[in-house]
Order: sequence, then C-alpha cells, then structure tokens
Amino acid sequence: MLKSTLVILFGLIIGSFLNVVIHRLPLDQSVVKPASRCPSCGTGLKWFHNVPLVSYLLLRGKCAACGNPISWRYPLVEFLTAFLFWASFRDLPFGVFEFISQFRIWLFIALGVAIAFIDLDHRIIPDELSLGGWLIGALTAYWDYRAGLPSLLIASVAGFGFFFLFALLYEKVTGRAGLGGGDIKFMGTIGVFLGFGGIWSSIMISSVLGSVVGIAIAKLNRSEQALRTAIPYGPFLVVGALVELFFEVSRWIIP
Ligand SMILES: [Zn+2]
Repeated sequence: MLKSTLVILFGLIIGSFLNVVIHRLPLDQSVVKPASRCPSCGTGLKWFHNVPLVSYLLLRGKCAACGNPISWRYPLVEFLTAFLFWASFRDLPFGVFEFISQFRIWLFIALGVAIAFIDLDHRIIPDELSLGGWLIGALTAYWDYRAGLPSLLIASVAGFGFFFLFALLYEKVTGRAGLGGGDIKFMGTIGVFLGFGGIWSSIMISSVLGSVVGIAIAKLNRSEQALRTAIPYGPFLVVGALVELFFEVSRWIIP
C-alpha cells in the first residue's frame, strides 16, 4: 500500500515533467529553465499551482492569473504516467537486477508517453528521445531479465533495419514518404528495451490500429489525400510496444 502510493506519486511527478518535455523539446527550449509558465499569459507558476493533478482540480482548469483554460492534456499526461508506472510496478526483493529492470520499464513508459504526444502535436519524434533513449537502453540492457544484451541489440538492429527497408521500398513503389525517420529510429529504441517481442508487437498492433484509425478518419473527412500526412505513426508504435511491455511484466510477477 505504501509502496503503491509512492509509485503513484513518483509517476505523477514524472508525468508533470513529461508535460514540460512534450511542450518544450520540439521547440528546442530547455526542459530545466525557466520554471513553468502559463502558455497563455506567460505568468510564472507558483509551486502550489504546479502540483500534478491537484492544482488542475483546485484551479478548475483555469490559469490563476489570466483565467484562460489550461489544456486537459496536462492532467491527462500526469494521470496516464502515474497509472502506467503503478500498473507496471513489480514489488520484487530489492537488488541491482530488479532495480535496473524496473528503471528500464519506467524509462520506456516515460519515453513512450512523451513520444506519442509530441508526434501527435508536431509529427516528429525528437532524436533526444529516440536515440537518447536507445543509448540508455543499450547501457542498461545487460541487466534486463528476459533476453540479455546480445539478443536485445540484435532485435534493435533488426527493428531499425526492417523499418528502414520498408520505408525505402514504400517510397520506391508509391513515390511518397511513408514512415518518418523518427519512426525508424524509434523502432531501434523499442528493440533495445523490449527485444523481438516488442518489435513484433509494435509492427503488428501499429499496422492494425493505423489502418483502423486511418479508415475512420478518411470516412469522416472523405479525403484520402489529407489523411496520408495527417496521421502520426508514433502513438501506434507506442501502444504496440506497451502491450508487449505489460505482457512481459505480467509474466515476471508470477514466479
Ligand atoms: Zn495565464
């Protein structure tokens, strides 16, 4: 109970930080300085206006200075991160392996949340997240439970290579760019965290989800042309990878 509460609080704090990352990283602004401000009026937030979830509720979704609405995305990202951290928490005996593998799970969730929302907003996946995530993933892969370092690195190269070739082929055949470079690099990140299971799950689930959502949007918009550039692929990859992550976590918990 105490541990779960601490994990949820930790998830809320990380979620709050991810809001800053999602907002500032694509604009090439520092995620550390300056302190958070209202996007409408620029007034700096007091610490008690910056408490995850609670402040949003107390302020009833409005800036304390200018009264402009605060996007519901902020509390959503905080809640989502806390929920995923809690759901993936494995209460194992404390040791280096257990600690680092839990760290890897939470790091991947944080990367996934940031990448999904940044891709939704800007149609990009910043290298800081894909390549930076890959580097930390590779450095900690030795302590991963299931697969071990060689298997994860091979999966990473395979995922990257498969998407790279697919993108080349797609562009040759259709004359349009299909997958973005960010998607291709992110596949490498998924591989180094989640191995071949993660690659497989991401490809399968993202292609199904991408098709379903694509058809739905085309039906609504009645314009296929607009749609091709309109759908970011990153969020679907994240969903696919997280399905594999939770599948793995559920197997780890049972001894
Ligand atoms: Zn304001």
